[in-house]
Parts: sequence; structure tokens; C-alpha cells
Amino acid sequence: MKKEKVSLTFPPSKITFPLMTLLVRNFDLEVNILHADIHLNKTGKLIVEVSGEEDSIEKALQFINEQGITYHLFNGTLTWQEEECVHCGACTSVCPSRALSIAGPDFRLTFNKEECLVCGLCIKACPLRLLHLAHRGNETA
Ligand code: SF4
Ligand code: SF4
Repeated sequence: MKKEKVSLTFPPSKITFPLMTLLVRNFDLEVNILHADIHLNKTGKLIVEVSGEEDSIEKALQFINEQGITYHLFNGTLTWQEEECVHCGACTSVCPSRALSIAGPDFRLTFNKEECLVCGLCIKACPLRLLHLAHRGNETA
């Protein structure tokens, strides 16, 4: 059994394509939707975690590619230059998993690595560029 976190970009013409159903039914995968930004007639984004046999995941990714849907695998790590952080909270507003949060009586940023989806959405949100992502290159363009 293998798990992959995958970002999916749907072109407007594929926004109603029942991809999740097909991944479950045709490839015997478990699919957990972690983040969704889907609107009719617009480019859509999904971040999902898929679990299943390695071979099935590979076939599913090929299938996704054949449908004209772009995918990107996340398996890297996010790093935070904590010592330079000014705890402005800008990164927390874009974090879909609440891995980044402002907490405590002193309103300081905390980063929970266990909750991080490695989606990279926080990187551009930081005015000081203190968040960085390293990941492998398995993706379609
Ligand atoms: S990469 Fe950044 S925005 Fe994405 S889940 Fe991790 S901390 Fe949150
Ligand atoms: S946006 Fe940057 S400076 Fe602001 S809290 Fe997040 S990491 Fe710190």
C-alpha cells in the first residue's frame, strides 16, 4: 500500500469530469480530498491524498494525464526560517490544512509538520520569503 499527495489542475472543459469516482471504481484507490477550488467554466484545483497499490497509482496517474488533467506529486518538505519570522500571519490565511497557525497569548506563528500537505500555497504569501519547498519532479505539464 502506498500513499501519494497529488495536486490536480482541471482545465475548464474538464471541471465536471467525475475523476474521483473513476479513481475509486477503476483503480481501486482510496481518495481523500484535502483542498478544493472548483468553479464551473474556470480552471480548477484539487489537492488529494490517494492510497492504493503502487501499480494502480501509476496507472491512475497515466489515466489522469490522458484526460488532459495536470497532476503534480508532493513528497517534499516545507522549511520555515523561524528566526527571521515577524509573525505577521500572512501565510496562515492561505494554508488549507492549518499546519501554519498563529497561536498562544503572544500571537506567534507555529508550524505543525504533521499537518502540512506540502502544497506550497504559503510560499508566495510570505512577504519575507521565509518558506521553502523541496519536492521531486514527478508531474505533468
Ligand atoms: S505547504 Fe504551506 S500552505 Fe501548504 S499545507 Fe504546508 S504549511 Fe500549509
Ligand atoms: S508570512 Fe512569513 S513572516 Fe509572516 S508569519 Fe508567515 S512565515 Fe512569518
